[in-house]
Amino acid sequence: MPWFLDAAQYLAGTFRVLLRRPYRGVVREGSMPRFVAPKTLYILNEDGDPWQATMMCPCGCGAVLEMNLVPDEKAVWRAKVEKDGTGTLHPSVWRQVGCRSHFFIRNGKIRWCD
Ligand SMILES: [Zn+2]
Repeated sequence: MPWFLDAAQYLAGTFRVLLRRPYRGVVREGSMPRFVAPKTLYILNEDGDPWQATMMCPCGCGAVLEMNLVPDEKAVWRAKVEKDGTGTLHPSVWRQVGCRSHFFIRNGKIRWCD
């Protein structure tokens, strides 16, 4: 096989692994990061209590999603970091604007709802 086909297959394989990589859960004290890393579910704490989950929209549209984690407000989500370091977020996120993505995250895997 020509070397460039080998290389192309290698790159395609690497890319597939990256796409399949689960979402990490990251707990952060304070406000959201200046740069929201892809495939990362941030759980923002204030004085140890989670108040917001932040992530890039998994559809690839580039939107940064912010989910309320404060239990006394409406539309509340729960987010946690699993033992293996992946993130879980539920109930589902349903964007009413833009791409209208509808999904939840379990053990770092995006589950699309339709
Ligand atoms: Zn999107």
